[in-house]
Amino acid sequence: MNEMTTVTEAGKATANRPQPRPGVLDIAPYVPGKSKGSHGKTVHKLSSNETPLGTSDAARAAIEAVARNLELYPDGSSAELRAAIGEVYGLNPDRIICGAGSDEVLSLIAYGYLGQGDEAIYSEHGFLVYDIAIRAAGATPVIAPEKDLTTDVDAILERVTDKTRMVFIANPNNPTGTYLPFEEVKRLHEGLPANVLLVLDAAYAEYVRRNDYESGLELAATSDNVIMTRTFSKIYGLANLRLGWGFGPAHVIDALNRIRGPFNVNGMAIAAGMAAVRDRDFVTRSIEHNDTWLPWVTAELEKLGLKVTPSVGNFVLVHFPDEDGKRAADADAYLLERGCVLRMVGNYGLPNSIRMTIGSEDANRAIIGHLKDFLEQK
Ligand SMILES: *Cc1c(COP(=O)(O)O)cnc(C)c1O
Repeated sequence: MNEMTTVTEAGKATANRPQPRPGVLDIAPYVPGKSKGSHGKTVHKLSSNETPLGTSDAARAAIEAVARNLELYPDGSSAELRAAIGEVYGLNPDRIICGAGSDEVLSLIAYGYLGQGDEAIYSEHGFLVYDIAIRAAGATPVIAPEKDLTTDVDAILERVTDKTRMVFIANPNNPTGTYLPFEEVKRLHEGLPANVLLVLDAAYAEYVRRNDYESGLELAATSDNVIMTRTFSKIYGLANLRLGWGFGPAHVIDALNRIRGPFNVNGMAIAAGMAAVRDRDFVTRSIEHNDTWLPWVTAELEKLGLKVTPSVGNFVLVHFPDEDGKRAADADAYLLERGCVLRMVGNYGLPNSIRMTIGSEDANRAIIGHLKDFLEQK
């Protein structure tokens, strides 16, 4: 028996090789949205909540300038970027940390504050990066059921124990598109012990048009145990560069700065982020696009007889009649055949549903047209 056979026989004869920490192999690897249709071509990619408006020209120009000096290390503290974010959002830059996507910031929070024996709570259909970050840190995820596909504050509070160290909320949540009003977020915060860190992931905050919504800036500014995360991947159209940030109490930011990689954000991301965050016209156009097409897509899907969860983000969750997920899977396959890539969300406990990002006018009309044909053919 050679080495190869020994190694590939999973679970057997593995004692003589390096072992990951307990829990690592329990992690279900993150499955990103597909990017190609069934014939290898993509007509419309609406699987990862990317913006249909591309990237700010100013951000693109900033990248080109940095690309001339790739041999130089970036500023490890992202100081100018933090200053630009602080200026636009009215925040103290010392209380901001930048990361390679908000995914990195979420992981840093988990590594900094969770370990073996600790529990961290997230909600039933919450963003799956939390599950990965919690387990990767060696801690135990605790899942709170939702009501009407919405985070349920009482269900979370009921699950707090002596071991709870963290609560993750995506607000608005992906993949459901639902949100918690500020009053509910405050009620959650007030119900948590002071040693529990509340993580408010506001990846879609810019898209929300509700008077009772607050992204988390206010609680993170005024509490000792709240951190808010934001991303440049969605409305700013910089997903490919990997850039996100967190805003929290000085003592939390200090801890995270100690464990992050010394040059965790690259120079092109820093430069592009600075330009993008200052290009408010680009952001306004993106919001207007969503304000036009989110209601249109929702109404058209409903006209087709499909149920749509009311969304405040740049995506909608569409429900197909309950047939053990077969109808949703068939619709997904039908769209993929036509180069239209949406997102199946069975791994979020939603086997009968598909998530669709709000795309360009062409994309939105194409998907509605194909779904109409799909539903009529049976
Ligand atoms: C897309 C998304 C993010 C952003 O992740 P990045 O690592 O910044 O690209 C964070 N949280 C949620 C809920 C998201 O949907």
